[in-house]
Amino acid sequence: MASYRGHLAFASGLGFIYGGIGASALQMPPALALLGAGVVTIGGLLPDLDSDSGVPVRELFGLMSAVVPLIMMPRLINLHLSHEEVILWLALIYAGIRYGLSRLFKRFTVHRGMFHSIPAMLIAGLAMFLVYDAPVLSQRAFIAVGTMIGFFSHLVLDEAYSVDFRGLTIKLNKYAGSAVKFFSPSLIANVSTYGILGLLIYLAWRDLFAH
Ligand SMILES: [Zn+2]
Repeated sequence: MASYRGHLAFASGLGFIYGGIGASALQMPPALALLGAGVVTIGGLLPDLDSDSGVPVRELFGLMSAVVPLIMMPRLINLHLSHEEVILWLALIYAGIRYGLSRLFKRFTVHRGMFHSIPAMLIAGLAMFLVYDAPVLSQRAFIAVGTMIGFFSHLVLDEAYSVDFRGLTIKLNKYAGSAVKFFSPSLIANVSTYGILGLLIYLAWRDLFAH
């Protein structure tokens, strides 16, 4: 599989192109186009949240716990909370990702298991869609799609590198498989992945149509 740096370089290149298309052809505001470039880059790192060790995964959760509260700001502001309540929520989300979510990932995911898959890509995109609130739907979609493009670039790169330069297949956990997959051999992983995906689809649907 490609290295952290490889993913970062590839996804940031794609992000640059995506931001450029956003600013020109899609006529997104410049700041949003830049944000789009940023989420493609972060999306390209996301699948490796499932690795259990190493500095990159710790760094990644650190990055996520800082970035997600920032991206949630418009949503929190729309809730008309007091300044103190906003600060408390930001702190709570930070700690939840940094300590809660990272434990869950460590405990329940297998490196290159179901978090390296097409449904996981959709989960990342939908989660971003729910987290990021913008007055215009196309702007929300721009950010969500950017996340998925970055995520997908990671899967493709991992797939391409699952055979190393000597032509040997890299040894992976038995539950790992192709990176660009819809299912894994683990029934529990499949059920929980599609369960989360279904829940997010429902929440996005409710967010769009139910009020
Ligand atoms: Zn990977």
